[in-house]
Amino acid sequence: MNIHEYQGKEILAKYGVRIQRGIVAESPDKAVSAYKEIAKMTDSKFAVVKSQIHAGGRGKGQIVGSEQRGVQLAKSPEAVKEIATNLLHNTLVTHQTGPEGKVVNKVLIAEDAYYPGDSEPKEFYMSILLDRAKACNVIMASTEGGMDIEEVAENTPELIIKEWIDPAVGLQAFQARKVANKLGLTGLANKEMVKFIFALYAAYEGTDSSMFEINPVLKTSDDKILAVDAKVNIDDNALYRQKEIAELRDKAEEDPMEVEASESDLNYVKLDGNVGCMVNGAGLAMATMDIIKLYGGEPANFLDVGGGANAQTVEAGFRIILKDPNVKAIFVNIFGGIVRCDRVANGIVEAYKSIGEIPVPIVVRLQGTNAEEGAKIINDSGLKVFSAVKLKDAAELIQSVLK
Ligand code: GDP
Ligand code: MN
Repeated sequence: MNIHEYQGKEILAKYGVRIQRGIVAESPDKAVSAYKEIAKMTDSKFAVVKSQIHAGGRGKGQIVGSEQRGVQLAKSPEAVKEIATNLLHNTLVTHQTGPEGKVVNKVLIAEDAYYPGDSEPKEFYMSILLDRAKACNVIMASTEGGMDIEEVAENTPELIIKEWIDPAVGLQAFQARKVANKLGLTGLANKEMVKFIFALYAAYEGTDSSMFEINPVLKTSDDKILAVDAKVNIDDNALYRQKEIAELRDKAEEDPMEVEASESDLNYVKLDGNVGCMVNGAGLAMATMDIIKLYGGEPANFLDVGGGANAQTVEAGFRIILKDPNVKAIFVNIFGGIVRCDRVANGIVEAYKSIGEIPVPIVVRLQGTNAEEGAKIINDSGLKVFSAVKLKDAAELIQSVLK
């Protein structure tokens, strides 16, 4: 699950990470009052207006149909009002949103952390994530902060510092010092960075996150280290014990069909092809997508109806698949292991009845427990369903019904 920058920062602050402070607002007027509060707090007329969407690259991103960037510095209430008006309820396109962009529903009015002083402000990169290959957490850091880290990793991988954390002993002080030293920090800034790393690591672990990315981490002109941005990914499988974080879910940021699927306990991921898939088991669903592609088709989705597929889940699955206008055929591929094929077949027939006319051809492959009974139910139902026994035959059938 992803959360917004402002929510990520609130979590960080709870764990003692210093953050660029801000107030979230949902209307231009509220943005102005937030600005006034921030101005009082910082005794400065500078503040930044930051679009809150579940995607990065906002600084360079642009609002559709205008010159407005997704993050902009302002120095008056009038400017804040104008920027917030440009952003709110409009579509922001960044290199991470895809060309369709994302609608901005909230803005964060944040203090200007780049104020002048004894030294220049400097941007760093830092993230903590799970390194699956090494089976432990890794801290990644770089002096090349503020920019596209994928580009840095591609062109100058030597500028990315990596420190792996032994899960048996946790983050050690020498490791945090090593990272701070490699970032070239000395004196107070070095000490602050060590503290920052410890607090960030505690936040990452305490929230069951799979990623915390802070880009940029800022060294201010008076040598404070703070988080200017926060991109957080929480492990969905831990949400049952992270109730407070689960509350932060913003369904408006998610694909509506994926939201509906999760409410029916279906595992659905939308894809760009035209063959809708309904499969039981994630492994079989992957294999099904592979075979569709092998025979020249493109899957429209990944859908795992789970081991306990019944009439309701099958119906919910059909409804979700049919909401995608790109779907031109549906491939139901069920292996009867725990679930019995006759039960699924009944589910298909019932779903047909309750949905009414299904406007695209359906190819059903039932294998395993009670497959023959299942096939009989489908054949006797009088529905326009093509049935296949072998996966290869099913994939070929799909191609022929598409023509
Ligand atoms: P992203 O583009 O979505 O990653 O959003 P960020 O939160 O990282 O902000 C983008 C850029 O805005 C940063 O890299 C900074 O250069 C700039 N920025 C953010 N906060 C401030 C601020 O307080 N003052 C100034 N002058 N620039 C800021
Ligand atoms: Mn950023």
